[in-house]
Amino acid sequence: MAYKTVNPFTNEVVKTYPDATSEQVENALQATHKLFKQWELEGPETRADQLHEIARLMREDSDHLAEVMVTDMGKLFREAKGEVELCAIIADYFADHGADLLKPTTIDTIATGTAKVLKHPTGVLMMVEPWNFPYYQIMRVFAPNFMVGNPMILKHASNTPGSAVAFENVVKQSSAPDASLINLFVNYDQVSDIIADPRVQGVALTGSERGGRSVATEAGKNLKKNTMELGGTDAFIVLDDTDIDTVSEIAWRARLYNAGQVCTSSKRFIVADNLYDQFVAKLKENFASVKPGDPMAANTTLAPMNTKRAKDKLQSQVDEAIASGATLVYGNEPIDLPGQFFQPTILTDIKPDNPAYSEEMFGPVAEVYKVHSDQEAIDLANDSQLGLGGIVFSGNPKRGEKVAAQIETGMVFVNNFMVSLPELPFGGVKESGYGREMSAIGINAFVNEQLIVTA
Ligand code: NDP
Repeated sequence: MAYKTVNPFTNEVVKTYPDATSEQVENALQATHKLFKQWELEGPETRADQLHEIARLMREDSDHLAEVMVTDMGKLFREAKGEVELCAIIADYFADHGADLLKPTTIDTIATGTAKVLKHPTGVLMMVEPWNFPYYQIMRVFAPNFMVGNPMILKHASNTPGSAVAFENVVKQSSAPDASLINLFVNYDQVSDIIADPRVQGVALTGSERGGRSVATEAGKNLKKNTMELGGTDAFIVLDDTDIDTVSEIAWRARLYNAGQVCTSSKRFIVADNLYDQFVAKLKENFASVKPGDPMAANTTLAPMNTKRAKDKLQSQVDEAIASGATLVYGNEPIDLPGQFFQPTILTDIKPDNPAYSEEMFGPVAEVYKVHSDQEAIDLANDSQLGLGGIVFSGNPKRGEKVAAQIETGMVFVNNFMVSLPELPFGGVKESGYGREMSAIGINAFVNEQLIVTA
C-alpha cells in the first residue's frame, strides 16, 4: 500500500490506504465520462451555485480540513487554515466569473457571414498533484474546470492521501455530482492507462521536473493536451535603492513559508553589493528567530519538512554545496526534536560549478549572491533552466518593473511577496513547465474553442 499518512512531526504511521483496483479505475472512467456527456448539454451557470456551496462547506469545516493537512504533511496549522480559505476564495471566484469567462466571442472576419467561438468542455481530465499545498493544488485545476464542465480524476501525492479524501468528501457533501472529482489511489502505470483512455482528454500535473517529464511523455504519446506546473529556483532581486528594513522583513518569510517547500519560494537572493552585508546579517537574525515545534501550536513558526526522504535529500544537497565551496553563514545544525525539522540555513559564495547553483532546494535553505549592477542581477536570475516566478525590490517601482520584465519566468512581483490569487495566471516557462492555471487565461486550458462560421 503506497498511500499512507505518516505524521512528519511525530513520525507516527497514522493511516494506510488500499491501492485502487482496475474495477475502481474503470468505474471512475465510466462515471466521469457519463457526467461529461451530461455537462456538454448544460451551461456553466448551472454549476455556479454548487461551486459556491463547496466554498461554503470548506469554510465551515476549515479547522478539521486544516488539521488533516497538518497530519499529512506537517505544515503550520495557521498556514493550513489560510490555504483552506484561499481554496474557498478560488471556488467563489470561478463560481462568480466562470460563466462570463466562458461566453462565446465573435470575430470580425472577411469571410462571408458571422464568426464566433464557442467554449465547450473537452472531456475527462487526469489531475496529478503534489503534497505541498494538498488542497490548493487541487482547487487550482478543479474550480475552473468544474465551471468548464470537465469532470476530473485525481491522483494525489502518496503522502497526502488524507487530504485527497477530505477534498473529495467536500465535493460529495455538496450538491455537485459525485463524479465531478474522483480520487483514486493509483500507481504510475494506472495513471498511464488512464491518460491513454479515449474518455480522458486532458492531463494537468503539478510536481517535479522528473514527474512532469514522465507524465508529459504519456500525454504526448497519446496526443492529450496537458499543462505542467513544475519546480522553480526563483530569484529575489534586491536593487541598490531598496529600503533594507522593508525587504528584510519580507525576504525571510518568502523563503521559510511552508517550511520552504513552495515552488515559488524565493530560493536565490540576488543582492546589490551596497546592501549585501546588511541583507545577510538581517536574514541571519530572522532565520535565527524561528521556533520549531508542533505545527498545531500557535507559537510554532517553523514546521517540519513533509517526509524524512525530503529532509535527507535537502541535507545531502546542502552537504554537497558546502563540499563544493559554498560558505555556510548560518544553520545546518540538527534540531533536537523527533520530527523532520531542518534548521533554516544560509549559503553564500556559490559558484556556477557548484551543484547548488542550478538545483532546486525544496526546503528552508537560502542562497545569497552579491551583484554589482542591475544587468548582473538579471543575468544571474536568468542563468537557470527553471523559470517559474520571482521578486524584484527597488525604491523605484518603475525601475523594479523594468528589471522584472527582463526576468525569464512566468510571474514576477515587484516590491511584494508572490501571492497566488484566482484572477492571476499561474505558471512558468523553460523547465518550470508550460500552460497557465486559474484566471481568464487558465480557464481555457482544457476548453474546446470551437469556431462556428455562418454564411
Ligand atoms: P513529484 O513529481 O514527485 O510528485 C508530484 C505528483 O506527481 C505526485 O502525485 C506523484 O505521485 C506524481 N508522480 C510523480 N511521478 C509520476 C509518474 N511517473 N507517473 C504518475 N505520477 C507521478 O513532485 P514532488 O513530490 O517532489 O513535489 C515537489 C515538486 O513540485 C517541486 O519540484 C516543486 O517545485 C514542484 N511544485 C510545482 C508547483 C507549480 O505550481 N509549478 C507548485 C508546487 C510544487 P507519488 O507521490 O505517488 O510519487
